[in-house]
Parts: sequence; structure tokens; C-alpha cells
Amino acid sequence: MVSRFEPKARRMLQERLDLSQNLAADSVPRATHLAIAEVREILSLPEPAFRPWLAPDRWVLGGAVLHWLRSGAGGEASGPLDYDFYFPTIDALNRGVADFLAAGFTFSCFQLWGDRCPFCGLAGSLERREAAGPAAVPLVKAGCRVCEPAGVAGRWGSRLRITAESLAASGLVALDLLSPRGELFQLAAIAFEPTPSRLIESADYSICQLGLDDRSLYFGRYTWTDLLAGRLRVENLHRSCYSRLRKYQGKGFSPDPATLARVLGFHLYLQARELLTRRGKA
Ligand SMILES: [Zn+2]
Repeated sequence: MVSRFEPKARRMLQERLDLSQNLAADSVPRATHLAIAEVREILSLPEPAFRPWLAPDRWVLGGAVLHWLRSGAGGEASGPLDYDFYFPTIDALNRGVADFLAAGFTFSCFQLWGDRCPFCGLAGSLERREAAGPAAVPLVKAGCRVCEPAGVAGRWGSRLRITAESLAASGLVALDLLSPRGELFQLAAIAFEPTPSRLIESADYSICQLGLDDRSLYFGRYTWTDLLAGRLRVENLHRSCYSRLRKYQGKGFSPDPATLARVLGFHLYLQARELLTRRGKA
């Protein structure tokens, strides 16, 4: 990853953000966000492919933003990607659903904890698209036999709406849509926060604390220090931290000792707990 950024771009970024020359682990930038235009100029980046879909109340967070930052000189070739969209409010989510469907996107599935459709609220109308995960994560992917034909007829996103009550009853986590080009757009139905900065605080690794609205790139306290140093630093322990640690090691990042200890320790704890749960049920 370190080599992904040209020396001149690295110097410009370090100066712009007031980061220490040696990218010390406690070096904190003086800004929380930069204009997309400035980031593009410093890193010689193209427009993010998903920029037309961004809005003041519609943001892309995490991996797709990291992918874009790496797409400059020597970066990864772009291909079909998953985009994680987040919203400040349920109303903004509903507007997003309506806009995407009006633009020719198609419904793929709901990701949810419960067994009720978040649109019609009917029990028994869900049709599973994928088996539930491990016992501790019973999240299912499903469609709705009642709403989907209605969605195809163009009513989805206009007459059918998600409400706070339907969210609570269905346990909706995300709504997956497919773009006309076949990209997966995952619209988060949890973690509504007023700003991208607030949302990225809860990301697992510092290098994933990235968000874009239609004007700016938002980043965490240590995102750029760690991106430029190739350091993997855990900020919040999530269930998937261990597999993601392996993933980012594969991309050239090195976990600091504290991160390695915390992530491995948490992974062992989860495994032990699952084992004990299975024995308890046996
Ligand atoms: Zn339904």
C-alpha cells in the first residue's frame, strides 16, 4: 500500500494534513475532511465511479472509498464493486431507494434479522435467497413475494416506504440493489448518524474510516497516518476483524502489536463462546 502513493503525493498530503515526517503512530491531522477536488488533485485520481449517486444526505463509506484512493497511478484496476451507502435518516434512505429504482436499479434482496418484510410488514411473505449464517449471526437474505411484483410495477420507493416501526419489526440491516451495470449497492438501514464523520467512527480499522458525500472525503484521526505508513490499527473490535486482518495483510498492511493482540484475543474469545454454545445445545 505504501508504494501506492507517489513520493510527491505523499509529501503533499503530509504537509496539507500536518502529519509528522516519520508518520509516528500518534500523528494526528489537523483536518477531518478534504474537498474531493483537492484529494483528486494531490493524488491524481479520477472521479469516483459512484460520484453521481452521492448527495449531501447519501454517502459511500469504507472499502469502495479505499479502492478509489488506490485507483491512481499504480493503483488497482477497477472492476465490479460493492458500494456501501449510508444515510443520516430513514427519510433519506427512502429517497435513495426511490432515486435508485427510478434510475433503473433492480431489487436484489433484504438483509435482515427478523421474518417480516420491512415494506408490507406481512409475516410469511419472505422468500429466502440465502441460508442464514452461523447460529450467532442469523442474518438472512430474502425477497418478498408480495412487494417484489409491486416494486417491478414501479410502486417501490414511492408508495411503499420504510418507517421506524417497520425497521424495528423486520430487523432490516440493509437493502441490496443492483445497478444497471451489475454493481451491488448495499443501502444500510442501520446506523443513522447526522454526519459521515460520526458514522466512520465505528469502523473496525483506521484505514477503513473513510467516507464520501457529494463534496468531501471524510477520514478518521489515524486514517491517513496509517494509510501512508502501511499500518493496520484496530479502532473497534467487530466479529469479522480477524478475517479482515488477513485480508489487509494480503494487501500489504502490517498490524501494530496492540492490534494483533486485540484482534487475535477477540477471535479466540468468539471461537470459545461458539464452542460452548454448541456444547450447551448438544
Ligand atoms: Zn413485502
